[in-house]
Amino acid sequence: MHTSTPTTAGGPTTAGGPTTSRVRRITGLKPTGHLHLGNLTGAIRPVVDGQYRAETIVFLADLHALTVTHQPERIRGLTLEQATMLLAAGLDPDRALLYVQSQVPEHTELHYLLECATGYGEAQRMIQFREKSAERQQVRLSLLSYPVLMAADILLHDVHEVPVGEDQSQHLELTRTVANRFNARYGDTFTVPRAVHPAVSARVMDLADPTAKMGKTSASPAGTVFLLDPPEVIRRKMLRAVTDPGRTVEYDPQRRPGVTNLLEILASCLGGSPAALAADYGSYAQLKSAVAEAVEGILRPIRTRYTELARDPGYVRRVLADGAERARENAADTVHRAKRAIGLLSH
Ligand code: AMP
Repeated sequence: MHTSTPTTAGGPTTAGGPTTSRVRRITGLKPTGHLHLGNLTGAIRPVVDGQYRAETIVFLADLHALTVTHQPERIRGLTLEQATMLLAAGLDPDRALLYVQSQVPEHTELHYLLECATGYGEAQRMIQFREKSAERQQVRLSLLSYPVLMAADILLHDVHEVPVGEDQSQHLELTRTVANRFNARYGDTFTVPRAVHPAVSARVMDLADPTAKMGKTSASPAGTVFLLDPPEVIRRKMLRAVTDPGRTVEYDPQRRPGVTNLLEILASCLGGSPAALAADYGSYAQLKSAVAEAVEGILRPIRTRYTELARDPGYVRRVLADGAERARENAADTVHRAKRAIGLLSH
């Protein structure tokens, strides 16, 4: 029996999913490139810290990585690398659920059912689809339906909260719309999740162009600190970071984006406020050196643990296989509910 009413108002509603006193959250990481400092600050650390407060689900979104030109070998390698990195950064597989999306076929099964509740125009209006399809001559159909698969990823697990950056807000809104529509049309089936937005200060900017976000595919690799970069490479990238005209170290996001980014990275490593930290440094050189040291202090233990885990890929694969098995238990229940509601099963 489903007892709750669907909502469009923002709060989570539970529809037939398992009762849980704790908030349940989901995060997906797409294996399209090597992980960098922005991923650590904006995605990995919040997930690792959050596993003690919320029921945490993390999946490697390898199906989403197929929506644009891809290399099969690279997807497989990056999927394992990202899973290993999450474990190295402290994700506890006994506490959180970690798995690979393609190993849980219910994602694609629910995707299809949700496509039957989504308008073509709705999918076509997604800003990300319009931008990405405009850049390409050949557009895969999966790029259009990507947000519907994302809706399936989320709704499959009856999650209450989804941490999303600005770029995914519209997709989460579509998830809520489709879930509410399905519930209204076929009876309460899905929990309608709400978005939680990370702090703006969690954003790490490109070291070579501090007005752009640090990303896996930045124009210049010199602006991106990859988590597996050797220490000397990280130090060199930090020391060469673009700063701003002027000499004094000041926290000023508008006029000093370069220095501000360095102060925010420092604050995220050491704690404290970036504006207050500015007073401790008399020159850009001193600041850059301190940031290089602080980042290395954070990355060294992660790198050491990564190296240990990477020696035994069998262990990581077992964690993923076990995660997929556990994920399927809940996922199968949701798909069953959805199939019954939409008219495919009688009970
Ligand atoms: P992406 O690497 O673009 O697939 O991003 C995966 C997740 O990492 C995003 O949803 C963000 O939470 C986080 N992320 C990516 N780039 C940054 C960045 N420069 N600063 C902070 N968080 C980021």
